[in-house]
Amino acid sequence: MGHVALDQAVLLNWYDHHQRDLPWRKSCHPWHILLSEILLQQTQVSRGIEYWHRMIEAFPTIESMAVAEVDHVLKAWEGAGYYSRARRLHTLAQQVMLPLSEGGHNGVLPQTAEDLLKLPGIGPYTAAAVASIAFSQPIACVDGNIRRVMARQSAQPAPTVNQTQQWADDCLEPLRPGDWNQALMELGATVCKPRQPSCEVCPIHESCSGKSTPHSYPLPNKTKTKSVTYRCEVRLDETGQPVLYQRPPSGLFGGLWGFELFESFDDPSDHMLGYVGQVKHTLSHRKMTINVWIGRAEGSVQGHHPKELALSGLDHKILELLHSKDCFVSP
Ligand code: SF4
Repeated sequence: MGHVALDQAVLLNWYDHHQRDLPWRKSCHPWHILLSEILLQQTQVSRGIEYWHRMIEAFPTIESMAVAEVDHVLKAWEGAGYYSRARRLHTLAQQVMLPLSEGGHNGVLPQTAEDLLKLPGIGPYTAAAVASIAFSQPIACVDGNIRRVMARQSAQPAPTVNQTQQWADDCLEPLRPGDWNQALMELGATVCKPRQPSCEVCPIHESCSGKSTPHSYPLPNKTKTKSVTYRCEVRLDETGQPVLYQRPPSGLFGGLWGFELFESFDDPSDHMLGYVGQVKHTLSHRKMTINVWIGRAEGSVQGHHPKELALSGLDHKILELLHSKDCFVSP
């Protein structure tokens, strides 16, 4: 692919002076770097910082996570969203702690992207990011920020994954691969932003073929958001505590506790349930509307203390609605 080469020294120099002060950038602990990458996959940087500190405090080493109960991990992750990441991280920690003879890594995180990729929850981006940042392996990573910078710098309206990877491989500065990958991502996050790129202060302005019409690159992805309506049936025990259910490990809010949800427009068939109100919740590809109903649990069924269990953001909203309508006997 013909493109104008980036001035690597200028971009690295810009990164050295303008990078955001992010706590994991001061750490050379591979586990801490891995945690930051997993958190940042689907969490904004500002919240990522908060959760990173929380996770590091609760699980300072791979071993400490491996020996923890998965519920403990989910509780620490509560609020960060996309809980399957936390479950996979827990499995990853356990797998790394296994002896080599059992397919593990004797408690030491593998150093190459190839080996990292074999661990649960690690995709090509995370493998390359961790290998380059934590272990200085000369491998280029590609994420949405880098794809946007690539599309603009080489004036490509719809670069494929392979084209973007090729571009990133060609650009890679092998002596400082971790800083180089982070510099490109930082440029995308803070200068070559999706809506308002700051071309006038951009360190790669000179080599950029798309700077006169940055908004033409890349063309937006057409992802469809599905609207789904649910019925939520909340049941209270004799003491006024709600009965909660642990969701299956895979699927929506995997492994977290929450209220009973049915994908349905219909009102409940149980006429003992009263309507409480509606909650809306948006996930990446799903707009959820939840009609909440409340009634009594059968017989001696015991409720739970919601504060003691890991709930999803959606279930917290349902809980807030119930509190706002004074649905609980006890606070
Ligand atoms: S010059 Fe503008 S469009 Fe080009 S890389 Fe820099 S910020 Fe992005």
